[in-house]
Amino acid sequence: MQTVGRFAPTPSGEMHLGNVLCALLAWLAARSEGGRILLRVEDLDTQRTRPEYAARMEDDLLWLGLGWDEGGSKGGPHGPYYQSACSPLYQKALDVLERQGLLYPCFCSRAELHAASAPHLSDGRYVYTGACRNLTPEQAAEKRAKKSPATRIRVPDEWVGFTDLACGPQGENLARTAGDFLLRRSDGVFAYQLAVVVDDLRMGVTQVVRGRDLLDSTPRQIWLARALGAQEVPQYGHIPLLLASDGRRLSKRDGDLGLAALRRKMTAPALVGQLAHLAGLIDRPEPVTPAELVGEFAWDKLPREDIRLPEGFGS
Ligand code: GLU
Repeated sequence: MQTVGRFAPTPSGEMHLGNVLCALLAWLAARSEGGRILLRVEDLDTQRTRPEYAARMEDDLLWLGLGWDEGGSKGGPHGPYYQSACSPLYQKALDVLERQGLLYPCFCSRAELHAASAPHLSDGRYVYTGACRNLTPEQAAEKRAKKSPATRIRVPDEWVGFTDLACGPQGENLARTAGDFLLRRSDGVFAYQLAVVVDDLRMGVTQVVRGRDLLDSTPRQIWLARALGAQEVPQYGHIPLLLASDGRRLSKRDGDLGLAALRRKMTAPALVGQLAHLAGLIDRPEPVTPAELVGEFAWDKLPREDIRLPEGFGS
């Protein structure tokens, strides 16, 4: 079966170096297996995202030498490629889950969630204690008259394990560490967890390469994919995060490490070479194109720890 990888950027700002590293490694992982790559624009939350950013990301990817086979403005056989156009598909998936009795309306406010949640996990996640899990239909109807609910899915007391391409064996007990999670917010916006699973399945994605900040979403996504009837789930590879030289996580607000600023200072091969070197793929930070790096890619070359950028990177 041919590998199908994907870029799945959220167009809420310009790309930063962490996004570039992720795109580069996703592209190399797929291409090193002779695979295809698609571009899905994760503009689910139309309040936070903008079409201009999506267009700019396409331009940046092409500038970097990271072309894709289908998706984005190029279109293709698995459209829509913009999540903002996929609501009917996400609703259909909710209907499938509803018929299995897995969903329930949740009326908890943010404050209630935080006050009533089980001990916070060290990474800031909280486990929903299930205040709305066992509402009777009458109680739910009464609350619905005053407030529109979010939609949660009931998770089983079950271990979901997988072998990560970069991090090795992983897994968690969903009831204990994830808890019943949201599939749709009370304002009607579908949750990332639902959208990403529906889209990866319907687009035939076989390989998901993304930052380690999403590692703990994966057991939920694998379980959800199976609940939606998937026979096969993608392979996952979670790559190290790129940190600023002082150890901070990069964000789209880091203008100086944003791609617009870097494009003014560096050529694309210079930037790709520096990132490939930091990721352990090549010995020296020499200019190189992504195509020239295909033979250098190997999962076991990637660092185990997050990657700190050297001081003054790109200046
Ligand atoms: N859209 C997400 C992001 O930009 C990535 C989601 C994923 O790769 O599953 O962080």
